Amino acid sequence: MATYKVVDREDPLLRKISKPVPEITPNVLKLIRNMLETMYEYNGVGLAAPQVGVLKRIIVVDIGEGPIALINPEILERSGSQTGEEGCLSCPDMWGDVERAKYIKIKGITPEGKEVIIEAEDYLARAFQHECDHLDGILFIDKVHKLKVKRR
Ligand code: ZN
Repeated sequence: MATYKVVDREDPLLRKISKPVPEITPNVLKLIRNMLETMYEYNGVGLAAPQVGVLKRIIVVDIGEGPIALINPEILERSGSQTGEEGCLSCPDMWGDVERAKYIKIKGITPEGKEVIIEAEDYLARAFQHECDHLDGILFIDKVHKLKVKRR
């Protein structure tokens, strides 16, 4: 296993639309393993492939309940609203409150090649929405109310 360098928010790569993954190859599985390793290394709760420089529709999330990796994730339903603090491994010195749907239904393919639909609420729903935004070139700082910046 290996960790990646996380792409900084200034990198234009983070503004690109990621491409669907047509097939789960050994390289895709290796990418997912290394994304998980990188997320844990930096104490993140989620990571999207473009954040490690790969424009593929893959996300990993772990809010403390075990890792979830989804290939070609798609949010099918959103309802309600919640506002809470977010940060991002690509913006390590910034955080702030973001409004998100409280509940979502998300579809994706697991690394084992199984299509799943996950219903998520609250923090898990927030994590999925944040990571899916990365696949469309959207960062939380685009949606934040009162961005807070930590001086380095
Ligand atoms: Zn992020």
